Amino acid sequence: MNICLLDVYSDRPYRVSKDTNGGFGTGNHFGSALFPRLLTAIKKRSVDFPPLYLPYVSASLKGFGHRVAYLRNAEPPRDADLVLMPTSMVEHTEELRRGRELKRRGVRVGYLGPVAALFPEHYLEAGDFLVQGEPEAFFLDDPAAMRLEGVLPAPALRDLDRLPLPDWSIVDAASLQYRLFGGKGAFFPLFSSKGCPMTCSYYCTYPLQQGGTPRSMSAARTVDVMQHLKERYGAQKVMFRDPFFTLDQGRSMAFAQELAARNLGLRFTIETHLDALPPDLTEALQAAGMTTVKVGVEGGSEQVMKSFKRKNHRMDLQMDTVRRLEGAGLQVIAFYILAMPEDTWESCLETIRYARRLNTAGAQFSVCTPFPGTRFHADMADSLRGLPPDEFNLFQLVFRHATLSPAQVEKLKNIAYTSYYLRPSWLFKYLAGRLRG
Ligand code: SF4
Repeated sequence: MNICLLDVYSDRPYRVSKDTNGGFGTGNHFGSALFPRLLTAIKKRSVDFPPLYLPYVSASLKGFGHRVAYLRNAEPPRDADLVLMPTSMVEHTEELRRGRELKRRGVRVGYLGPVAALFPEHYLEAGDFLVQGEPEAFFLDDPAAMRLEGVLPAPALRDLDRLPLPDWSIVDAASLQYRLFGGKGAFFPLFSSKGCPMTCSYYCTYPLQQGGTPRSMSAARTVDVMQHLKERYGAQKVMFRDPFFTLDQGRSMAFAQELAARNLGLRFTIETHLDALPPDLTEALQAAGMTTVKVGVEGGSEQVMKSFKRKNHRMDLQMDTVRRLEGAGLQVIAFYILAMPEDTWESCLETIRYARRLNTAGAQFSVCTPFPGTRFHADMADSLRGLPPDEFNLFQLVFRHATLSPAQVEKLKNIAYTSYYLRPSWLFKYLAGRLRG
């Protein structure tokens, strides 16, 4: 078969990613003031990669002998037998529009990703079928032998070692850059585990996409993938997209030892929790090449976070942990959420002040968003502002907040980004990180 992986995006002044936020996507619109607008423009130019399941889907399909092409906003060839389209909240409308157009021309259209399964009636009207579950697991079987119609379930893959090596030849490897906080050099995202059992699944989209039961690739297979990325595509850095990399600390240690033993010279980034990086594990991961740690701090008020079912590292220990990591030469990037339901103007300012005190190399302030499928969304059903799915981009207020208006939230974003990044102490830290590469 001639199969086209068609990734569609509308024209927006900010970066849209379909891979982030548990596959629901984000639209990095940092604010309307001058500096946040500049940051928004820089982000739009600096980071771009397709949904992470596509290189695995491509590898499997090619393994069955099919021809595969990845197209971004381009016209599929006339002789395409099948068009597979990644879905998201942020480009929901555009995905449906393109699907309808292709279906009218007689092309068979299938939708992939967690959002397809959330809106089956929309996507089945615009296409022929959707995959409910992980696309990379679904295409371990040959689609040529299937009836491609309706909702096609894909049970979660228990053994991640069964996945093929990712086929990144579908994009220009030189276009995969993460310049803002990653320095120069070819960069590739990858994963080594899926699923997250934490209580923040109340609002988080990752457990919706991957389930609440952790599943891991073996240490040896994970390093095989890294070696493949280096030898086949010239990777110099990789970014693990595991939702909670050090959830299983024994696994993380085994990975660090395996990677150090193979001495690939690759640098890598992980996402984890501050209370899941004990000194011995940190040292082992750093010795193996870890340079950057991304952590969700979320808020500056323990009370607000508790009401939001967020179990976090004790705040009195967070500063010590961040300083320990930075003292060892690691770069820390922290994520914060503004406008949680119990937040007030003052508690949001406290979050921003707290972020400045932590003064990590990078900070992202997003807006609390109840995504469909989460319990948070069900609890907020009566408070939603009725915005279309595309507006659920993690950077604007989509529900009627008890104390904050959308205009106030926009102002808080402006304050957060401007007051965080326009400080000599942050600039000094950033430049020192860039010099380290
Ligand atoms: S630990 Fe991270 S990935 Fe897991 S539910 Fe919480 S926020 Fe989501």
